[in-house]
Amino acid sequence: MASAKYIFVTGGVTSSLGKGIISSSLGKLLQARGFRVTIQKFDPYINIDPGTLNPYEHGECYVTEDGAETDLDLGHYERFLNINTSQANNVTTGRIYHNVITAERQGKFLGKTVQVVPHITDEIKRNVFLLGETGEYDIVITEIGGCVGDIEALPFIEAVRQVKWDVGPNNFLNIHLTLVPYLKSAGELKTKPTQHSVKQLLEAGIQPDILVCRSEHHLPNDIRKKLALFCNVNINSVIEALDAETIYDVPLLMRKEKLDERVISKLKLSHKQEPDIEQWKEFLGRHKNPTSEVHIALVGKYVELPDAYKSIIESFTHAGAGNECKVYLKLVHSEEVNDENANQLLGEMDGILVAPGFGERGINGKLATVRFARENKVPFFGICLGMQCAVIEFARNVLGLEGAYSTEMNPETPHPVIDLMEDQKNLEMMGGTMRVGSYPCDLKKGSKAATAYGKTKIKERHRHRYEFNNKYLQAFEDAGMIASGINPETGLVEVVEIKDHPWFLGAQFHPELKSRVLDPHPLFLRFVKAARDFKYSRES
Ligand code: GLN
Repeated sequence: MASAKYIFVTGGVTSSLGKGIISSSLGKLLQARGFRVTIQKFDPYINIDPGTLNPYEHGECYVTEDGAETDLDLGHYERFLNINTSQANNVTTGRIYHNVITAERQGKFLGKTVQVVPHITDEIKRNVFLLGETGEYDIVITEIGGCVGDIEALPFIEAVRQVKWDVGPNNFLNIHLTLVPYLKSAGELKTKPTQHSVKQLLEAGIQPDILVCRSEHHLPNDIRKKLALFCNVNINSVIEALDAETIYDVPLLMRKEKLDERVISKLKLSHKQEPDIEQWKEFLGRHKNPTSEVHIALVGKYVELPDAYKSIIESFTHAGAGNECKVYLKLVHSEEVNDENANQLLGEMDGILVAPGFGERGINGKLATVRFARENKVPFFGICLGMQCAVIEFARNVLGLEGAYSTEMNPETPHPVIDLMEDQKNLEMMGGTMRVGSYPCDLKKGSKAATAYGKTKIKERHRHRYEFNNKYLQAFEDAGMIASGINPETGLVEVVEIKDHPWFLGAQFHPELKSRVLDPHPLFLRFVKAARDFKYSRES
């Protein structure tokens, strides 16, 4: 059965230790050695996917090429490994139960009592092997969300235990990520929480092969020895994971700790090559040694929780390095901005981005922000709702269409410049019914978008219900806001630009979902460059 090797990353002591970054960093190192790697995440909550979760609950919802609405860790997997993931890479308890219960209703288990073990655990395992059995990967890394000991994680942990016996011990590895806290009053690092969490794993029948220990301080040898002794692992399988200056340092830190070597030897993988991480190091060099800087405002309504804008923030890191430019992001709450204070809040900015979002809260601040950027010729980038706001603002203040709006905010608006498509009008279900996933787009030759991409045929990922209303297109274009990107199949407007402005661009899609560490997104690259040009022009 095992054409691939399976690595499971579990967590203990506390959540938020960075299992996603450790999984991505290990994946990167193995990939850099020539192995074909993918990463998946199991989330033990009951929502079928995070698409219906408020960003305050769960951070950003990451969208894959095939239109799956997924956990933000998939963004890390794609950015680190420069791969595309899919629906198969993110599975929740909700989806597992949904599949089993649907099968039960179809009579697939006729006569049987349907139970957590074996039916739920079998469905979990089916989802593990789904990726491994494609033959596309040498290694499948599976991150288990939450902590061992969580009630809701139990079936996943039990499935992991069983996988070891399904695929054989040489094809299975458990990496357990824990915390080794430093007690200031005692002046000591403490191993007890890790010991307890490994005991919980052992109770569930899993002996971790490698411990990755998050810590604020170096793990001295005696601490490593103690952890090895009490947790039944080799001392060289106790890996230190120090707090890093940037998440992009973590692959190098893991390399230094020889995490990849331990994995290769434990999985009895044939050594391919030393990891080729030169380009990664070059990226870090540019990231850490910028020759210029810009200040960019990110205006949104979820700014209290920056994870809500994870991919946008990371895209700026990539594009900043690409321009050897340090990007200082100022997160501005859209509910705070109005026409009166816009200059005070945004006047020092070299560029302004209006973020995606849903619903009316904070919308007036976004419209005031767009107006400020348009009138003062500050480089502007609107993403999804940000693009829709650019359209609404232009309709109201340039075309003079009073009350112009999106029907999302006001279904009775006299000028629905942003409106539902026909096929969205009669939907009754909210989950999984938006326009999601990758769609083609044709760019107008000579437009800012086409210049940025260096081509006219692109594909980008979407996640929205509402669209530019083409009834108004002619009026917009006559007044100077052009549709520079059009979906060739549906005629939907995907990109708008203002001609008489140094850089004003709105995208209906989400470019941030396709920016990679080693392949920054062209629109972010150009936006950062435009911000720097604007800054220099102001200074001279
Ligand atoms: N709320 C808008 C829509 O559904 C925009 C969504 C977004 O910004 N992702 O069309």
